[in-house]
Amino acid sequence: MKYMKKSFANMEPYHSGLIPEGIILNANESPIAPPKCLVDEFIKAVNKIEFNRYPDMDEVKLNEAIAKHYGINPNNVSCGVGSDELLDVMFRATLEVNDKVLGFSPSFSMYQVFTELVGAKYIPVYGDSNMIFHVDDMIKAIKEYNPKLVLICTPNNPTGQYLSKDEVRRIIESTDALIGLDLAYIDFAKEDYTKIALEYDNVIAFKTFSKAMALPSIRLGYAISNKDNIDMLNAIKAPYSVTTFTQMVGEIAINHFELYKNQIEEIKSERERIYHTLKERGYNIYPSEANFLYVLMDDSKNELLIKNKIYIRKFKNGVYRITVGTKSENDSLLEVLK
Ligand code: PMP
Repeated sequence: MKYMKKSFANMEPYHSGLIPEGIILNANESPIAPPKCLVDEFIKAVNKIEFNRYPDMDEVKLNEAIAKHYGINPNNVSCGVGSDELLDVMFRATLEVNDKVLGFSPSFSMYQVFTELVGAKYIPVYGDSNMIFHVDDMIKAIKEYNPKLVLICTPNNPTGQYLSKDEVRRIIESTDALIGLDLAYIDFAKEDYTKIALEYDNVIAFKTFSKAMALPSIRLGYAISNKDNIDMLNAIKAPYSVTTFTQMVGEIAINHFELYKNQIEEIKSERERIYHTLKERGYNIYPSEANFLYVLMDDSKNELLIKNKIYIRKFKNGVYRITVGTKSENDSLLEVLK
């Protein structure tokens, strides 16, 4: 990368590994398409697009629909091109060079990338010897490092660990630092506590249409926070970034969130089936409240999966993440991992 500035020399393009055919369990996507009646509505919406006009840059109707879903004010919502865009905007809007950012580790790899892009320092807070995160360790690290920003991803990508509302509260209340609360997978967990973001000044919650709502193709995420933080994101965000089509689809989908309940339940029950089956077989697999499972296993098992055209995410030798597939995809996975 000839023109890349020197401090970015080690950066590589983000890649979850696109695969042409086979059973794809590597990117935490939903294995199930959105309900057919919704897809029909999406297609009808295309006819209403004024293609010669920019999208509504305030995403008024979409923000209203999201606000209605949570029973909150549309002023407390901002949408972006995936939650990726809004996370990036938060890092750029808040951090100065050499500011400190804390996050549990391992977690979503983009946190470190966004930190480094603005010249700030990412400080990982590791789990215990079983890779379990402890709130007290985070609170201790906050006292020690005095960070500007703290990332909490729950359920955590890639380990699947879920922090309860009370645990998250303890971290929030221990500091004035801004808390980026990444809830990308919370729809698969015991409780969705997104609205906690409105109880404090220092919390921005991030959610996405890419996981439980099975719409990564439209690239839509949103932030929920007090008006001041939302205004900050809106001030930095690129104008017109969320396309007209995306806004329309998002509005239809969130207005009918109840239609997703069955498929979310199906993914959760398949997650438990994979977990218990592999656990009984002696696999070193972690309990998860997301749509994926973290597993430490011999690389030969992965080679066997690849031979059978089943693709999971490899982090490093012996460390894998399996996205929950459909029942028959999971049957195939479990058959190979016998
Ligand atoms: N946060 C977490 C924890 C994720 O795993 C992902 C997607 N891999 C994102 C945010 C970004 O999701 P999107 O941009 O699709 O909304």
